[in-house]
Amino acid sequence: MLHARPHSGIAMALRVGLACAILLVTALAASAQTLRIYHVDVDQGDATLVVSPSGNTLLIDSGKNGHGPRLNEAMAAAGVTDIDHFVCTHYHEDHYGGIDDLVNDYGISIEHAYDRGDKAYVGSHTSSTQTYIDYEEAVGHRARHLMRGESIPLDEGMLVTCVASGGVVLGEDDPQTGVDENDMSIALLIQFGGFRCFIGGDIQEATEEKLATHDLVLDVDLYQADHHGSETSSTVALLNDMAPAVVIISNGDRADYQHPRQSTLDRFAAMSSPPSVFQTNKYTKGGEGGNVPDSHIADLVPSGDEGLILVTVDQGAGSYEVSYQDTAFTFPVKALRASPAVVVIESILPNPIGKDRDLEEATLRNDGPGDVDLSSWLLRDERGRCWTLTAAGTLGAGQKTTICRDGMPMNLNNNGDRIELVDSVGSTRDEFSYSSSSEGVVIDTGH
Ligand SMILES: [Zn+2]
Repeated sequence: MLHARPHSGIAMALRVGLACAILLVTALAASAQTLRIYHVDVDQGDATLVVSPSGNTLLIDSGKNGHGPRLNEAMAAAGVTDIDHFVCTHYHEDHYGGIDDLVNDYGISIEHAYDRGDKAYVGSHTSSTQTYIDYEEAVGHRARHLMRGESIPLDEGMLVTCVASGGVVLGEDDPQTGVDENDMSIALLIQFGGFRCFIGGDIQEATEEKLATHDLVLDVDLYQADHHGSETSSTVALLNDMAPAVVIISNGDRADYQHPRQSTLDRFAAMSSPPSVFQTNKYTKGGEGGNVPDSHIADLVPSGDEGLILVTVDQGAGSYEVSYQDTAFTFPVKALRASPAVVVIESILPNPIGKDRDLEEATLRNDGPGDVDLSSWLLRDERGRCWTLTAAGTLGAGQKTTICRDGMPMNLNNNGDRIELVDSVGSTRDEFSYSSSSEGVVIDTGH
């Protein structure tokens, strides 16, 4: 399943010189079907740079104040010069602190910025700090509220879906906004071919439990541990849903946090198929904190900045590599994905009599030979907004089900739209375009 070997070059180059790194990684970028995810060493914080097969970039969080140089170095190593999409998962300094350096000191342009919105809630203890003011001035003032059900258009062959934001998860019937800043983090499910990765900022038990109840994050390959391996996150219900093969913990060496907690590491180890767990940094301050074996820690000197962990997903090979320093491990992308199921969009009702927001409908039909679990499938429109099909559950062979919008974010535009049916690995299974609608009239797709 898994082997360690001296790494061929990339991680070494990160250490020995930027110029070498740029050359090597640029060569890597040339292989078209490769997704790269850089977990930047930002000590007790998060900053994750995603580089799509086409070279488009998504930066999720930006470490702490003063971490701009580390972000810039990671971008240089990745061979990218701007950020297409930046997501601030929540308003804690260890997640937005470095973005102003990147913009102001390095002149990096950020095309689209997103955060969890609801800034009226941000307490004065945060909003009055210089770091928050710097965040607002750099990108926060124009950041769009990313809501659950929306997706970020990173690359054609990828699906980046927001499954939680503000403490509300996709498909929640009676949305209750969270009350804890960590729990209000934006959580993203990133899919590329059969590869699935979950990054949930600092969400804790309350939001994790809701994700698990709604079966929103099933069967992932890679899990970036929520809240730096805190004991209040990585709850059993969500872990069982995700069954990750690999966990990466972005942690520092702070005695006041003691991340990662030994109890969290114990939960990983107790899973029926224990994941391979990696840390960006070694934790040395004792108490309730713990460590994975040294061989799985990128930076054994916690004060250093060399704990970057790179995950490279090779769609053609059906595998991904976790690499740092002079070490690399290879894992197979979980199989199972391709289902012979043939589920189609039979009809849609974009313009119901009564409130579109509640009464729009789509009917799906299973023409395949077996039952299909639709619970992590989506319907998605041209703008990337979605309906979760959680409520549809399992659709038997030959059966139909009608999904009602019920307040979900996607709007079946009355003046035409293109609707895609997307399966649990992000592949489009069916699509239908129309150019107009009449009130109360169901449009038969002919599929
Ligand atoms: Zn944090």
